[in-house]
Amino acid sequence: MNDSMLPSGAWPVLEPGWVWLCGAGPGDPGLLTLHALNALRQADVVIYDALVSEEILSWAPKAEHVYAGKRGGKPSAKQRDISLHLVELARAGKRVLRLKGGDPFVFGRGGEEAQTLIQHGVPFRIIPGISAGIGGLAYAGIPVTHRDVNQSVTFVTGHDQSGETPGSLNWRAIAEGAQVLVIYMGMKHARRIAEALMDAGRPAEEPAAVVCNATTPNQQVLETTLGRLADDIDSSGLEPPAILCIGRSVLMRQVLDWQALAAGESPRNLDPLGRGLPAETL
Ligand code: SAH
Repeated sequence: MNDSMLPSGAWPVLEPGWVWLCGAGPGDPGLLTLHALNALRQADVVIYDALVSEEILSWAPKAEHVYAGKRGGKPSAKQRDISLHLVELARAGKRVLRLKGGDPFVFGRGGEEAQTLIQHGVPFRIIPGISAGIGGLAYAGIPVTHRDVNQSVTFVTGHDQSGETPGSLNWRAIAEGAQVLVIYMGMKHARRIAEALMDAGRPAEEPAAVVCNATTPNQQVLETTLGRLADDIDSSGLEPPAILCIGRSVLMRQVLDWQALAAGESPRNLDPLGRGLPAETL
């Protein structure tokens, strides 16, 4: 790839001493934004997280690549080191690209890193990315909103800072109020989350899906129900990173699994919600 891969236009310049906090999307390099690509072309150093692919890094051939991955739920001491490292590099006059999976402000601690930069007088720019809870579900054929299913969507993290199910969350209120739930980092506590939701009245038959390694060649999707979710995760052997989705929009995968369609499969059910086809109900 060369610089001309960017369409002509007035692309921002990554100046020495600046940090650009950038989302890399959920995995597929094609889901990078053009601003992210522009950043990769200019960076002296790329500080990247666990879920950023080799291929994306290869688009910054002249930059030093520094791994700053963290495993979910570890204490936040290391977060401080990462933030301060960004400050040091900027002060040394580097063009710094902080590359994070998905979107930097969606369960990505981008806000904390930016705060540290402000505190130390380091100028920065934020480049949003496609979050796994939206783009990852789309690659599984699950629309995060669908007019016949939901007029709202609730994004939840399955871990708090200590690695436990977030105690600060009111699971009863979530169960009562969330039409469709999209859960990040939910694999470890899937059983507890599912039980909390069912205790609060969500039906065991409610459709649920697990999308692992979404948008990558290793993407795997499990379709199940809330009641079977934890057992099915255990027996499938699926591992994080994964997005859990709970709600009737999961049923739309029966017709919208575009990757299966591209591979020659027929839709399993043209009208999975039983509402008639869109052209008939317009
Ligand atoms: N900022 C990221 C989320 C970081 S938290 C974003 O906006 O997407 C890390 C969690 O994101 C993972 O535990 C998983 O729940 C989810 N995730 C990130 N990439 C994923 C992928 N390719 N497939 C499935 N889940 C993913």
